[in-house]
Amino acid sequence: MAIEPFIAIQDLCHAFGRGELRKDVLQEVSVSFYPGEVVIIMGPSGSGKTTLLTLAGALRTVQQGSIRVDGTELRNAKPAVVMAVRRRIGFIFQAHNLIASLTACENVQLALTVDPAETAASSRKKALQYLEMVGLAEHSRKKPDELSGGQKQRVAIARALIRRPGIILADEPTAALDRKTGREVVDLLQTLARKEGVAILLVTHDNRILDIADRIITLDEGRIEETHRGMERLREALTALTTMLPKYTSTLSAETGEAESLQTLRLRFREAREPLLSSAAEFAARKMSPSLMGQARSLQDQLHDLALYEEALASLLLLLSAPPSEGMRSFGDSFFQSLEFLVITMAETAESPVYDGIDLFLQLTEDRESMMTGLREKYFDSVGGLEEAEKRYLFELTDLFTRTIYLMHQCALSWRVWQQTEPIAPEP
Ligand code: ADP
Ligand code: MG
Repeated sequence: MAIEPFIAIQDLCHAFGRGELRKDVLQEVSVSFYPGEVVIIMGPSGSGKTTLLTLAGALRTVQQGSIRVDGTELRNAKPAVVMAVRRRIGFIFQAHNLIASLTACENVQLALTVDPAETAASSRKKALQYLEMVGLAEHSRKKPDELSGGQKQRVAIARALIRRPGIILADEPTAALDRKTGREVVDLLQTLARKEGVAILLVTHDNRILDIADRIITLDEGRIEETHRGMERLREALTALTTMLPKYTSTLSAETGEAESLQTLRLRFREAREPLLSSAAEFAARKMSPSLMGQARSLQDQLHDLALYEEALASLLLLLSAPPSEGMRSFGDSFFQSLEFLVITMAETAESPVYDGIDLFLQLTEDRESMMTGLREKYFDSVGGLEEAEKRYLFELTDLFTRTIYLMHQCALSWRVWQQTEPIAPEP
């Protein structure tokens, strides 16, 4: 089931002024914002960020192109339709835009006055609830000028959230705040939006807060570019995890005390994997653009495969270090050599998974798999003078090896899924 974007913008153009004075601000902008994602819009001053935000929020009339908010087209929409759309959106501006003569609570309540179902008492109760959520329960009776800059922006957050919007549009909400307060406000905004399942579209100049974004969109000369930050970070962490694997094989040949023990490596692997697993699961469960969701799922699969692989690798290494006889040791050694080659190739491929590399890796693991199957059959058909312990050893060795290759193959398939969700070089 495809997830519908909350706001879908298609071929949007916008210009100010006429004739000689005409200035094209947005040019054929197409971008979608999905429920639950945090998107940051960056770009130099005057690049059209505010224009885009106000168009998306139905605060400005669409000149050319299409904007659909929750399925409603804004182009040529009637005023009543525009008003209804605006109610589904929360706004937070650089200047908090609170009304000076009203208390914090009344300012928040004001957002509910459009709702005929609300009475003064019910809206007051709700407003207090939301003020508590932003940590201002004790300040509800204060007027804006009795509040600090950060507190005023918290009131603005409560006011934006109380209508239970589908998306919050925030235009440089930290611009008037010091660094620490700005960070706190943005963290709060992100936490609450996640909790309430609200998307955030945030315009900022501040590159210190980019890490809260799932996606970053850069506006330049009226056009957009985008990157998927959250997923990129996850993927970097996954790559770091994969590159840990070749170290495992070095525990076998470790004659110096420098190599880490298998136990230490396994511990490190698990420590690095746990937080990754939970964020990958969180990504996969959220509603995002289909390509991001595809990538999140493939990351989750990869993590799962990687854990199984790590397990097989560790057992294999334990087995290799304790062969039942000299003959088995040399078998073990040759297995180990081809394994080491594969592990290193896998780590290299993970570091820069280009299409050709993945292809090669897939081929490699496919070949090995059939080779190992052949090998196993041979061993168990010709019993020729092997001891019971040796037979068991060989069986486990080949079994683990086959499993290892299989898992590597699966990882490579995941990489390909990832590659295919982005534009890739055409297949030869
Ligand atoms: P940003 O928010 O990225 O700084 P804006 O969207 O506010 O950029 O403005 C984009 C461009 O459009 C700027 O060159 C600005 O001067 C111009 N502009 C914005 N609003 C108006 C307006 N109401 N009339 C004429 N020009 C405008
Ligand atoms: Mg602006």
